[in-house]
Amino acid sequence: MSNPIYQTVIIGGGFTGLFTALHLSHQHYPRSVILIDKNGRFCFKPLLYEYFSGEMDSMQVTPLFTELLRGSGVIFVQAEVESIDLENRQVHLSSGDCYNYSNLVLAVGSVTGYFDVAGAKESALPFWMQKDAIAIDRHLHKCLEAAIHTTDPKTRRQLLTVAVVGGGPSGVEMAATLADFLPHWYAAMNGNSQEVRVVLINRSEEILKGDINSHLREIAENELQKRTIPIEMILGAKVTAVLPNALEYQRDGQVEILPTYTTIWTAGTATHPLIQNLPIPAEHRDQRGRLQVTPTLQLPDYPEVFAGGDCAVVEENPLPPTAQVAYQQGAAIANNLTATALGDDLKPATVNIRGTLLKLGLHNAAANIFDLLEVTGELGHLIRQGTYLELLPTPVHNFKATAEWINDEILQRYLANGDTEKTAIRAIELVGGAVVGVLAARKLLQMLGDENKSSDKS
Ligand SMILES: Cc1cc2nc3c(=O)[nH]c(=O)nc-3n(C[C@H](O)[C@H](O)[C@H](O)COP(=O)(O)OP(=O)(O)OC[C@H]3O[C@@H](n4cnc5c(N)ncnc54)[C@H](O)[C@@H]3O)c2cc1C
Repeated sequence: MSNPIYQTVIIGGGFTGLFTALHLSHQHYPRSVILIDKNGRFCFKPLLYEYFSGEMDSMQVTPLFTELLRGSGVIFVQAEVESIDLENRQVHLSSGDCYNYSNLVLAVGSVTGYFDVAGAKESALPFWMQKDAIAIDRHLHKCLEAAIHTTDPKTRRQLLTVAVVGGGPSGVEMAATLADFLPHWYAAMNGNSQEVRVVLINRSEEILKGDINSHLREIAENELQKRTIPIEMILGAKVTAVLPNALEYQRDGQVEILPTYTTIWTAGTATHPLIQNLPIPAEHRDQRGRLQVTPTLQLPDYPEVFAGGDCAVVEENPLPPTAQVAYQQGAAIANNLTATALGDDLKPATVNIRGTLLKLGLHNAAANIFDLLEVTGELGHLIRQGTYLELLPTPVHNFKATAEWINDEILQRYLANGDTEKTAIRAIELVGGAVVGVLAARKLLQMLGDENKSSDKS
């Protein structure tokens, strides 16, 4: 395949890669841009729980790249990248095709990590992409269906027990979501909803340990007990094997078995194999094998290559692997690519950690804003959903990050006036108001759209 000399290739259309491409388009980047992703759809992972629970649809949570990039000038290629030749500046696809690049953006994220636990890869269900949400949904429906028709109480209990491995944010959000909607599904099948069990198993004695959300622990612990069915917690337990019909773990030196047909695995992440296989020495990687990048997000030995999001770590300033870091790094990479093309100086990426948002069941969430204020319940849910709704990348012609307006213009402005709780509360009221306004406006537009559709039909 022949290529022009000046061609930027982005591998991975997640938060880093897609936002790099969208920003480049807005900056009228003078070089051709190719975005390669193995999937045809962007996956807004923080909202995967809403997609799973039916609170949001696939158009919102997993929009098509072709639609998002229409009119952007970015060429989208749906293909799996098999290897990268850093010396010859080439990207090789599993189809056998190859792309040359003058600049490369590595944005492949990370993969599920199973820590060599026996049977975990084969028998546990991961929750990472849209296909995983669909697979878990189907599996749970089958289990509930079988439970309804089972007369043996032991088998029924096994079918109605769902184990969630990992007490990090993903495990907590998953357990809370399941504990709210599974009992309703089962009751709708005429089952006894009180027979449904959701069990959260965690290696440490504390959930959310060492996580950016750790200050929401107490709130999360309380909320987990207030779901439609309370969540059972098995803490300080090391999972040693996953079988199709049971989970084995060790606690206090004892081996214990939890009979269950459903183990959902949220326990860990691992470095992407493409990243592992790059000929980058250990001194330019962190302990987990992620790539160390300069403050301008370049590989030290290959300055034409940028990397951001979950697959990279900034030297001396490691940031949590989150969507908010990834999309801000995407914007910074775009700025530096444009600067490179124009011969300008590159700038270090600045990332603001604006707070954390944790889904704690249906229509319930906790929001921690700038470590100053915690908002829970329905308002927390509105702030979380509104923030993410506004972050959803829209087709390029109306791409504008209203969330950044909410975060930067409102929060930063109020906090700049003095970091007092009072100003933060005022900011929250405004954010809450803005979010509710946005949601209401959307609802209104949707209703008007529906009305137009029905009047078109009549
Ligand atoms: C269930 C879940 C919930 C989460 N919730 C939150 C949250 O509430 N808040 C938060 O801040 N963060 C959350 N995160 C973390 C956040 O989603 C990630 O930190 C973020 O997506 C990282 O962005 P990224 O661009 O590095 O990678 P990703 O967004 O993972 O994108 C990587 C892209 O690369 C593509 N790709 C991978 N391999 C190849 C290949 N070989 N060839 C071609 N394409 C490839 C993938 O298809 C994918 O589109 C959550 C993650 C998960 C899994």
